[in-house]
Amino acid sequence: MLKHFAKMENLSIDILKDLLLIPSPSGDETTIINKVETHLKDLVDDVFRDVCGNLIAIKRGKTNRKLMLSAHADEVGMMVTYIDDDGFLYFQELGGIDTNLLPGQRVEIHNHQGIVYGIIGKKPPHLQNREAKAKDFEAEDLWIDIAANSKVDAETRVEVGDFITYQTQPIGLNDNVWTSKSLDDKVGLLTLIEVAKSLKNKQPAMNVYFVASVQEELGARGVRTATMNIQPDYGIAIDVTHATDYPTCSPQKSGEIKIGNGVVIAKGPNIEPSLERKLIDLAKQYEIKYQIEPIAHPTGTDANFIQVSGKGVKTALLSIPCRYMHSPNEIVSLLDIAEGVKLLTSLCSIDLDN
Ligand SMILES: [Zn+2]
Repeated sequence: MLKHFAKMENLSIDILKDLLLIPSPSGDETTIINKVETHLKDLVDDVFRDVCGNLIAIKRGKTNRKLMLSAHADEVGMMVTYIDDDGFLYFQELGGIDTNLLPGQRVEIHNHQGIVYGIIGKKPPHLQNREAKAKDFEAEDLWIDIAANSKVDAETRVEVGDFITYQTQPIGLNDNVWTSKSLDDKVGLLTLIEVAKSLKNKQPAMNVYFVASVQEELGARGVRTATMNIQPDYGIAIDVTHATDYPTCSPQKSGEIKIGNGVVIAKGPNIEPSLERKLIDLAKQYEIKYQIEPIAHPTGTDANFIQVSGKGVKTALLSIPCRYMHSPNEIVSLLDIAEGVKLLTSLCSIDLDN
């Protein structure tokens, strides 16, 4: 029985690409939530959205206990704050962005009339003085050029308050390794969809609540109302974590996490020990590749708020290793996502209270 549960169909690259191509800056997740609902609705018994915009899809189990699997739908981005007389746009950052990475990037501005393309400008080296070359940037030092002639011209296409995202396309670097913006946390959404697919025509041991949460990048805001609504017995956040397998990373400081080495099981105060042990035991039993990430503080993920919601929830965190998190070109391995899907699918076959 368990073996059958753990068997996995191949990951759908098409679904992942589809999710990556839908911009979802924090606060503007409706389109991606619609897409996730399209994928989940025929695989579950019930789907609804709460007031904050979280998607909650329920697959009924054999007992009345509740297992919540949460991945966040939003991605980091920016927002237009000001348009100057020459038609250049200024912006605030939405979530944790490395401002020094922004000059030279292409961006999409999401206006109600449609997408406007722009670039974040910076003087070429020929025109820079030495201080400018060495500078750490603040968002207010940078501007977006949409080739407008004037403020009036710019205002025919964009408005203050429009959301902005990076303009990058997903590409495969080799058979398994992909780069794109917003792999954080579209890989989590893919995981939810693939687990739901694996459970098709099966009844899980507990009720499984698939949650696509909003506004995680702004302090895990959406998952709070979703968790209050569901009141789960068990909660697992599915997110990305920092790979430390490239130059200048320090395993002494951050632990040793490698892309392609398996799904990451977190340990620490944010994790309930028996649930963590169950995940490790299942990984060993089914020869699922996994890595351990020690996190000696509340995690910067939905897991933080799931754990202390209501009367408390037994919580775990599964992560996909990711290089260059929050940049326009994050990197993950599909192998790690597949291992995560296998682990969660096998977990769904177990009544965790027995
Ligand atoms: Zn994330």
